[in-house]
Amino acid sequence: TTDTLSPAPTTAQSEALFARARAVTPGGVNSPVRAFRSVGGSPRFIREAHGAYLTDADGTRLLDYIGSWGPMILGHDHPAVREAVTSALAGGTSFGAPGEREVRLAEAVTRITGVDRVRFVNSGTEATMSALRLARGATGRKYILKFRGNYHGHADGLLVEAGSGLMTNAGGALGQAAPSSAGVPEEYARLTLVSEYNDPAALDALMQERGVDIAAVIFEPVVGNAGVLIPTPEFLAALHRVREHGALLIADEVMTGFRLSLRGATGLLGLRPDLICWGKIIGGGLPVGAYGGRADVMDHVSPQGPVYQAGTLSGNPLAMAAGLATLEVLEGDPGLYGRLDTYTAQLADGLRAAAREAGVPLSVNRIGSMLTAFHQEAPDGAIRSYADAARSDTAAFAAWFQQMLARGIYWAPSQFESIFVGAAHGDAELEQTLAAARAAYAGLG
Ligand code: PLP
Repeated sequence: TTDTLSPAPTTAQSEALFARARAVTPGGVNSPVRAFRSVGGSPRFIREAHGAYLTDADGTRLLDYIGSWGPMILGHDHPAVREAVTSALAGGTSFGAPGEREVRLAEAVTRITGVDRVRFVNSGTEATMSALRLARGATGRKYILKFRGNYHGHADGLLVEAGSGLMTNAGGALGQAAPSSAGVPEEYARLTLVSEYNDPAALDALMQERGVDIAAVIFEPVVGNAGVLIPTPEFLAALHRVREHGALLIADEVMTGFRLSLRGATGLLGLRPDLICWGKIIGGGLPVGAYGGRADVMDHVSPQGPVYQAGTLSGNPLAMAAGLATLEVLEGDPGLYGRLDTYTAQLADGLRAAAREAGVPLSVNRIGSMLTAFHQEAPDGAIRSYADAARSDTAAFAAWFQQMLARGIYWAPSQFESIFVGAAHGDAELEQTLAAARAAYAGLG
């Protein structure tokens, strides 16, 4: 093993930018996890990105496993996406009126995923927030049910026992709802019931007790926001049973959509939700979200129906162009998901072997191109819930993260996030990553 740690690269420019940013923006960032709070140190400010690599403000090249938190499945600056956005740009940046690209992207999404109707918004948060309003409008019920450690964006009623950057704040008994953020009134949080992921008995019991009041059960079909958690078949069966109580089933595929397969996690796992939420990949790196489902549910949305939802920039021509180009590349390359799967499986195996060799406790959850390496020995061999994930050694993770970063590997800066492999990751990147990982685990042991 050759250690790839050469003289530590300077981070002076990133640090200077971070200092300026902190003076004008809360915490110096526009989204919390970017601030490196849980791993320490200054975040790298990024100047540009191509393929599998970022270049930071000091000119250091970083091998990127964040992929903008999911959207960049084709790698950064993909020629087809750049070409589509450039060509759309020449026709103007926003119309506030419908255009053909929105129709084409909606046709592609409905054809690929099997939903009847789709509505475009500007972020994953808007997608889940709007889907919940729709579920309430369509059922006439007030309550929603979510799972501890799942993250669905930052709308009030969803910032309850939430994962991602809020992972360290959650607590409280099942069925009750503790807001994960200041500024979320108890009255809102009370309308959100919480159950434990991968616990079919708890879900059945809660539905038995409260089912008649519940408009929707929203869930991550594969969790990325407590680290990667993979659902058991028994849990998926329990999710389908919520319909017997008249609740709608909402799959939040913001992270997994078009990532775990062309038809997302729902396609991969054979799920049949009433509504699906998308974000990230559907916008090809520009700000887009979407929600869709059966016509009889979706036609409650205004102006067809009484559930109001709107957006000045929704269906933006540049964003639609980026999304369309991305889906076209994904659809036109049937081997792509297999290649992502192979790379990420080899990465998982390599991490396990390197940790074992160094005597570092590690438990890797991996599905398709999503992976979390939890710093712990899983008690019964698998990490399946928020409570399991929370037992990880976050200090060991932070030390490992810094060792990787010093070797040019840009991993997600939190133990409770997924990393994302993209189509631009190849043999050389795998080798570089595993060499760095061996040295980083050895540094911990
Ligand atoms: N839902 C899931 C599963 C997510 O992972 C995220 C973001 O990471 C969201 C919703 C919110 O999306 P956005 O950050 O685009 O608002």
